[in-house]
Amino acid sequence: MTTLSEAHIRAVVENVLKELKGNSITSAPVAFKPAPAVKSGDWGVFSCVDQAIDAAGEAYKKLSDAPLYARMQAVSIIKSICDSQAEELGRLEYQETKIGRLEHKIEKLKVMQRVPGVEWLKPDAYSGDTGLTIIEQAPFGVIGVITPVTHSLPTLASNAITMLAGGNTLVVNPHPGGAKVACEGVRRFNQAIYKATKLENLITIVDKPTLESAGAIFKSKGVKMLCVTGGPAVARAAMESRKKAVVAGPGNPPVVVDETADLDNAARSIIAGASYDNNLLCIGEKQVFVVSKVYSDFLAAMSRQGAYRLTPAQVDSLTKAAFPISKETNEPQLNRDLVGKDASFLADLIGLKVTSQTPLLFGEADEKNAFVDHEQMIPFLPIVKANDFAHALDMSLESEHGYRHTSVIHSRDVNRMTEMGRAMETTLFVKNGPSMAGIGIGGEGYVSFSIATPTGEGVTTPSTFTRQRRCTLSGALRVI
Ligand code: NAD
Repeated sequence: MTTLSEAHIRAVVENVLKELKGNSITSAPVAFKPAPAVKSGDWGVFSCVDQAIDAAGEAYKKLSDAPLYARMQAVSIIKSICDSQAEELGRLEYQETKIGRLEHKIEKLKVMQRVPGVEWLKPDAYSGDTGLTIIEQAPFGVIGVITPVTHSLPTLASNAITMLAGGNTLVVNPHPGGAKVACEGVRRFNQAIYKATKLENLITIVDKPTLESAGAIFKSKGVKMLCVTGGPAVARAAMESRKKAVVAGPGNPPVVVDETADLDNAARSIIAGASYDNNLLCIGEKQVFVVSKVYSDFLAAMSRQGAYRLTPAQVDSLTKAAFPISKETNEPQLNRDLVGKDASFLADLIGLKVTSQTPLLFGEADEKNAFVDHEQMIPFLPIVKANDFAHALDMSLESEHGYRHTSVIHSRDVNRMTEMGRAMETTLFVKNGPSMAGIGIGGEGYVSFSIATPTGEGVTTPSTFTRQRRCTLSGALRVI
């Protein structure tokens, strides 16, 4: 593979944008109805999982024969559609899933611009007296993809960009609760990619996904690698499969606030992170441990910065509604009907009126409260008092359950930052900012919606979906 200059990449992007404009794809959003059928699928949308896998396999062969320019066009088209149609697609996702916040659904599509593409891939080379060795980042083939309901189209789009950039094609089993918008995205992406490149079915998807269709993808010989984004069950299933798997698993991010922190900045950041899309993000702040010296001051700062404080009795009522005791296990179990709902909806449940603009509820809790222990994805934050920093860190470690996903600290003490970073060993560690900064939303770095935690690839990039191939020429090719 040749490294492309920035000017070349800019020229390609400009060309693709022109092509898109010519085809009215950016200016006139397509209606939410099936487009004309291509072969047995409908612009990549299939009812039969085996057909979806076969079509992605055929597409992989064609993509492998196509110039690199075709990959760049495909990536650029997906980014362009996510940008220009963010409002319409975000609304479709919101209407279908009925969770989160519309403005964040839109923003999550807009930030697709910052997901890395083909330019990410760089060959490595060694030259010397005995010849030249070049190491290329080559594709795997068809990648089986599982997406969550919390960010159905953003995860699919982000995976499609990084995987196609690496020269792969995808077969997707979306979460049933977000399958319609995922299919609609696939139709739009494939239709526009076909117009520009004559390549079809680079992304295929199952329109009525089930655990069986996921199982078929996990087992198929035609699928060379898996990338799953979801909770504990699917993470386990992928780790137990016999394929190479990139697993973007669950988290339960704790936050520590110590006595040296800027409390207003801490409160502002925590509210921004925990209320983002009503706390649906796997990286979102889920429980806060505050040292006793500044506990009351921090609670006051949370109110000052716009979150709504519940009384202990209200915290108790909300905990009972959010975590009813399961008849089978006799343990508190997350009530999924509350996941991603507005703070005002939660308030209603406990007989309280707050405005629909209220971003987040919070209240005092002890470390045994079910909100602390469970990955709740609800816009309520339990604030736990710690004796000191060491105690706060202990409780953070306990509540994170060893997922090694995300943790956050608010402190001006660099030694404590280091101590917590080393102890938590999380994939993302954010200091003095909101959790989203860790994936490049309001923070430095590139964006991706699959953060591979147990398998260790971190915030995924095109390189995550490539295999190294070494090509050696013996003899002289030294030019120096
Ligand atoms: P979920 O686990 O309910 O579903 C995720 C996907 O897995 C869905 O497509 C579902 O149909 C599928 N699935 C579930 N069990 C399966 C099994 N046994 N075999 C095959 N497929 C199976 O999760 P969700 O509610 O959609 O999403 C929220 C979860 O995802 C949270 O735990 C969150 O932390 C995690 N998440 C992680 C990341 C990350 O990058 N690490 C990103 C987003 C979400």
